[in-house]
Amino acid sequence: MKAELLSVGTELLLGQIVDTNANYLAGRLALLGIDCLHMQTVGDNLARAKQAFERALSRSDLIVATGGLGPTEDDLTREAIAAALGETPTVDPALESELVAWFSGRGLVMPDRNRKQAWLIPSARALPNPNGTAPGWDIQKDGKRIIAMPGVPREMTPMWESIEASLQGGGALRWRTLKLLGIGESAVEEKLAELVRSTSPTVATYAKNDGVHVRVADKAATPQEADARVAQMERAIRARLGEYVWGTDDETLAGIIGRGLEKRSWRLAVAESLSGGDIARMLMDAPGAARWFVGAVVLPSADADALEREGRRLGGDVLLVTPHGKDTSELRATAPGRTPRLEIRFRSPADGRRRALLGGLDLLRRALTD
Ligand code: ATP
Ligand code: MG
Repeated sequence: MKAELLSVGTELLLGQIVDTNANYLAGRLALLGIDCLHMQTVGDNLARAKQAFERALSRSDLIVATGGLGPTEDDLTREAIAAALGETPTVDPALESELVAWFSGRGLVMPDRNRKQAWLIPSARALPNPNGTAPGWDIQKDGKRIIAMPGVPREMTPMWESIEASLQGGGALRWRTLKLLGIGESAVEEKLAELVRSTSPTVATYAKNDGVHVRVADKAATPQEADARVAQMERAIRARLGEYVWGTDDETLAGIIGRGLEKRSWRLAVAESLSGGDIARMLMDAPGAARWFVGAVVLPSADADALEREGRRLGGDVLLVTPHGKDTSELRATAPGRTPRLEIRFRSPADGRRRALLGGLDLLRRALTD
């Protein structure tokens, strides 16, 4: 199956937004083992959008489109698809009453221009949108499939996940993400060496804002078989990189740190200069943070002594400080019976801020997990 992504929106062409939808969908297709051979971007223009769909239909079996499903005049994706397929949209009564109900549930009367979100063409089935008003379209015609979804990522991703299973073409796809800190992406690749060229399972590395992720994925006749191959690869990877792995899949750094604190009945304070408040923000995202996070102070250009002094006033059993520095900084976590430190070097304030965030969290998780 040959797939193609089609992003609709003039904002993309003007450089006002980054096409994170295409980035996300390309990754998902790769995970599914579906070859994505083209990506197109087209503005909110009916003739050019129609042409883009025609071109995609001429060379691809699966077309995944995002954007242009809103109620406004420049949202033209439905019109473009209908024109490219030579079909005529009609208002679907069931969709229409769902839309009306959506608005009245919020105490609103549906604006007339939203009625086109209840359109269907004969070969399309509607994809529910629990997070917005625009349903998607799932079209099957002449052996081709078009999936059109809203542009808003928060609406698009759940819709995609609900339909993804129908694209798998038999077999079970399983994956596992290992999350690493304290090592860069290129060093990870170097240590993985020949493993990154494996095709079953596939092994891919990603630099993320919580470190480096290594994703292992495989497809097999049964989930058990796929799981077994993924687990075997995971063991091989851990044998090379285990000391850097802090978590897997949905685990978050803040969650791991929180668990470590709760296990010891410790509470944490942070005093940040180099990391500029980023550590506190990351910790706040953890469920139940109020149980173990007493708070943060953020001071510009502060050294370790000043941060210690101010941080102590917050109380807590563990204090993490991220002193300001020109191109180096010594991060320090003071916990009962231990004071792990980490010296970081950086090239610019932004680089320092990022390294202080990741280094500080790594220091905490190391102090709390042994
Ligand atoms: P709406 O119902 O909100 O109008 P829509 O399906 O019409 O949704 P667009 O109008 O094309 O979608 O885009 C709405 C917003 O979604 C954009 O302003 C942008 O923030 C986001 N968006 C659209 N396309 C993309 C994309 N390819 N990548 C990331 N964000 C996008
Ligand atoms: Mg729109």
